[in-house]
Amino acid sequence: MNNLPPEHAPLVQFPVQNDCLQVGGISLTRLAQRVGTTPFYAYDRQKITERITLLRQHLPPGILLHYAMKANPMPAVVQHLAGLVDGIDVASAGEMKIALDTILLPDKISFAGPGKREYELGSAIAAGVVLNIESEQEMELIAQLGEFLGVAPNVAVRVNPDFELKSSGMKMSGGPKPFGVDVERVPGMLKRLHKLGLNFIGFHIFSGSQNLNAAAIQEAHTKTVQLGIQLAEYALSPVRLLNMGSGFGIPYFPGERALDLSAIGKNLQRLLLEVERQLPGIRIAIELGRYTVAEAGIYVCRVLERKLSRGRVFLITDGGLHHHLAASGNLGQVVRKNYPVIIGNRVQGAEQEVVSVVGPLCTPLDILADQMQMAKASVGDLVVVLQSGAYGLTASPVTFLNHPKPIEVLV
Ligand SMILES: *Cc1c(COP(=O)(O)O)cnc(C)c1O
Repeated sequence: MNNLPPEHAPLVQFPVQNDCLQVGGISLTRLAQRVGTTPFYAYDRQKITERITLLRQHLPPGILLHYAMKANPMPAVVQHLAGLVDGIDVASAGEMKIALDTILLPDKISFAGPGKREYELGSAIAAGVVLNIESEQEMELIAQLGEFLGVAPNVAVRVNPDFELKSSGMKMSGGPKPFGVDVERVPGMLKRLHKLGLNFIGFHIFSGSQNLNAAAIQEAHTKTVQLGIQLAEYALSPVRLLNMGSGFGIPYFPGERALDLSAIGKNLQRLLLEVERQLPGIRIAIELGRYTVAEAGIYVCRVLERKLSRGRVFLITDGGLHHHLAASGNLGQVVRKNYPVIIGNRVQGAEQEVVSVVGPLCTPLDILADQMQMAKASVGDLVVVLQSGAYGLTASPVTFLNHPKPIEVLV
């Protein structure tokens, strides 16, 4: 059985020297010594920069690039990205604090998500952050808080469109959804918004996540722009920003291929011309979480034991689903598939074998690799889960079984 992932992983993302993975210009073994303990997450600063460069090469210059912090809120990563992107999208007061600590001006930060608390709205208004309104109730509360604070809140309306992002890993629009305001309610809301004296910035239309189908993304972009133009007719002040979400995916599993950015860029160029003609002065933003950081990050844990059970080899490690729920297959996967997993300090190895990599938790769900081919590992070797820079630690149940939290480093 050959379960090795195809070209996207692992050797494209990080160089290998003397059979050892190199991260941030140093060998993984050395990095593990520097960190001092396992498990840890490492994010490669240069790779993040290169990803933004790649996006800017393929997308038209007029498009604003936002970072959706939900994918990876590590403060050092966010600080690094703040110097490279045009805005940051946050989804809680905790994330907003991290964004406000960067050099970005508050009006370059937008705050989306259902169920925003009163204190979250209040501090966003005081800061001058753009609130993406998710409901009529939220709009009324924002207006009251703005009056109380003596500040006109900056707001955009998050729209739940009547279409969805096709072939998306996670759909977040179309049909009944807890996110955004159903498109048919938006005209009424815009009138009220104006009456309430809110400072209207524009629309936020986010339709899905982890999409590798460029044609589907182009279709969603085209529909989003059309919808933005239609809704603009009901706005009582100019639409200054159309935040289109994005959903750009990255390859995780065998057979998956990197997204065709150039096709998406060409389509955006066309749309930009169209929208600028109809709505002069408007800016278009796309917000990317996963695409920006996922491939720049790895999760590293150590082999504690090689266990043989009825003919199968288990590598028992000090890392697992409590640190990396997504790699264990328990974050939104229907059929469990292996993330790209390698032995980082012996990538090819003298021999290969088929093994299962498991963690220390007392549950059969704690699997990092299920019968996957990799170099034959010894106790003390470093297991690396690639494609781990997004929805890794932040999306994991770290208190489950009460093991220590992993360290995170930006190198
Ligand atoms: C989760 C989320 C994103 C980021 O999605 P990715 O697939 O990681 O790019 C962007 N915008 C909003 C509103 C989100 O909820």
